[in-house]
Amino acid sequence: MFWTGDLIARNAPVRRRAGPSEAPHIARGVAAYLGLAIGDALGATVEFLTPNEIRHQIGLHSEITGGGWLRLKAGKVTDDTTMSLALGESIIARGCVDALAAAEAFDAWMRAKPVDIGNTVRRNLIAFRTTGKPEAPASEHDAGNGAAMRVLPVALACYGQPENSVISANRAQAHVTHNSALSDAACETLILMVQDFLAGKDPVLVERERAQKLVSEFPVFAYDKRRRENPSGYVVDTMQAVFQSFFATETFEDCLIDVVNRGGDADTTGAIAGMLAGAYYGLDSIPKRWLKAIDENIATQCPAQARALLALPRHP
Ligand SMILES: [Mg+2]
Repeated sequence: MFWTGDLIARNAPVRRRAGPSEAPHIARGVAAYLGLAIGDALGATVEFLTPNEIRHQIGLHSEITGGGWLRLKAGKVTDDTTMSLALGESIIARGCVDALAAAEAFDAWMRAKPVDIGNTVRRNLIAFRTTGKPEAPASEHDAGNGAAMRVLPVALACYGQPENSVISANRAQAHVTHNSALSDAACETLILMVQDFLAGKDPVLVERERAQKLVSEFPVFAYDKRRRENPSGYVVDTMQAVFQSFFATETFEDCLIDVVNRGGDADTTGAIAGMLAGAYYGLDSIPKRWLKAIDENIATQCPAQARALLALPRHP
């Protein structure tokens, strides 16, 4: 099924929206990329607010309105989406995930003065400019969510590949800025979850085989206890908020509204939850008002890149 879809993708004309003939895994990949951008744009409005502040200032935050501490125009996205696109372009240009190509793409992205940038990303990209080494030194302190927020291009480029090559591809891109065991574990869990959903797997199975496996290997990620509100940029907080929202809701819209109204690093929890929810619920589940609200350039680039990544030749 995968190989058939792959051939269809390579021969199909480029379209803005998935058509009835598009293979299911491609339509889900497109939905995951649009979900990432929508979650980013929706969450950015309430980034760094607490749930109480959101309630007082907005009520229930459910519309893409821009604003927030970055004073974004409605529909604009932040580093979560633009770093993913930069990484994806480097993968398409090289035909595979390559650490140096990823580091150069991130460096070019930083030079273009993005609207926001994480501290760990900035520090380790500045170090890359000096050393030319596309791998940050291992540090348990670099366990922010900056690598996990940009894993989608790896999930798409490596769809159908053996798990060990998926893992090494991810580490090539992730270690450019985040060389930490917790970050790696989170990134790899997210990639495998997206790939499971692209393949049409049941979320009950995915929760057991991916999310609960992560918790059994790294108990710090346990998400079945206290409700995670106001998640920081620590990748453990991020994953707990995302898992709680994703596994406790039944639609794309409910999942995103639940996660961003937890406040904190809401653009990144929104982006990651949007990626998972897009991959699982599919294109038809994404509210039209959110699709319309997204910056037109981003709404064109995300689906085009999803299709191009899924059309890359596979190297089993
Ligand atoms: Mg951001």
